[in-house]
Amino acid sequence: MDQKVCVRKRPLFKKESEKGDVDVIRDDNNQSLTVLEPKTKVDLTKFTEEHNFFFDEVLSDNTANKEVYKRCGSPLVRYVFEKQGKASCFAYGQTGSGKTHTMMGNPEQPGLYFLAADEIFTLKKEKGYSDLTVWVSFFEIYGGKLYDLLNDRRKLVARADAKQVVNIVGLQETEVKSVAHLMDALNVGHEARSTAATGANLDSSRSHAVLQVGMYSKRSLHDLFKNLTQIQFKRMNKSVGKLSFIDLAGSERASDVNDNDRQTRIEGAEINKSLLALKECIRALDQGSKHVPFRGSTLTSVLKDSFIGNCRTVMIANVSPGTSACEHTMNTLRYANRVKQLKSADRGKDAYALKVSYFPRACGPSLLSWFAGCIHASSG
Ligand code: ADP
Ligand code: MG
Repeated sequence: MDQKVCVRKRPLFKKESEKGDVDVIRDDNNQSLTVLEPKTKVDLTKFTEEHNFFFDEVLSDNTANKEVYKRCGSPLVRYVFEKQGKASCFAYGQTGSGKTHTMMGNPEQPGLYFLAADEIFTLKKEKGYSDLTVWVSFFEIYGGKLYDLLNDRRKLVARADAKQVVNIVGLQETEVKSVAHLMDALNVGHEARSTAATGANLDSSRSHAVLQVGMYSKRSLHDLFKNLTQIQFKRMNKSVGKLSFIDLAGSERASDVNDNDRQTRIEGAEINKSLLALKECIRALDQGSKHVPFRGSTLTSVLKDSFIGNCRTVMIANVSPGTSACEHTMNTLRYANRVKQLKSADRGKDAYALKVSYFPRACGPSLLSWFAGCIHASSG
């Protein structure tokens, strides 16, 4: 399996700087960034530890969704068309770091869902795939349970077939004929997600949203089997490829395992389990392990089919730049680094190096900075 790990930094908001937050992330170039972790609250620009990270793509805070798509999304869509394979794109990160902005975006700056759909329909036309049909499904995983976002959040169950491929029984799959049509369906799902969150004391930052776009060809079969239902017809067709976009639950929710509220604790445990399982599955696939722990969580078991055979993944780790988010930012980068390290480990290169940068002048070449300089962290 081929995989790529990217980091996207969002801008520091005015209201954050007004509260005293400063930007602690320096994007050094297209592939590396440095976190200047404050070690004292007295002066946030002094006494920092520098943490350098290297990734396949580093997207700075002035990168628009279009550019993110060009560097991270478009190669996946093109891969699906060229190899008739499967591709998945994950948005990982703390709540408020820009996952939904990246995936869904807004009317002024549409996100990867829109931009991928746009390219799919353009390629369909350009490559003369007149018989290609495009189908979407959109569901949410909340507390390990599945809800259909295109069908009034109907609760669904997943079942493994004889080949151990997990299918979501009764998941609504809608054929879409244009980008606008796809976006209409998505807006309904997106709305269902946020309405449920406000109405029933649910929290959308505790759920994973999964959008799948399937492509099928041999439309002529439809004429031969006119009495088949749409779903049966689709299964008779040849799958050309499948794209999955996963807007993951807020990574900080994984630490809700210690919350006082029982429900929050259970949901936190589920998120923790799924984010760990996801990392372990990508690791196992990259290392070519025979055993891939798909069954470790609902998320990984329903995505199993997209991880087998010709497949590619892109993880976009979203980070907030402010001082107050620094701890979560470090956790996100360490997680992303863990996924990334598989490749760099092969190259014998450190993917993450820690160095103490500006120590108080009074310390001089102190024991402390000598000690810190000796550390080469390989995060975990
Ligand atoms: P998450 O889904 O990770 O919780 P959101 O995508 O909802 O976070 O982002 C939180 C807020 O920050 C939103 O108002 C969003 O529009 C804004 N935002 C996020 N990333 C960016 C960006 N790169 N540029 C401008 N605004 C952004
Ligand atoms: Mg979100």
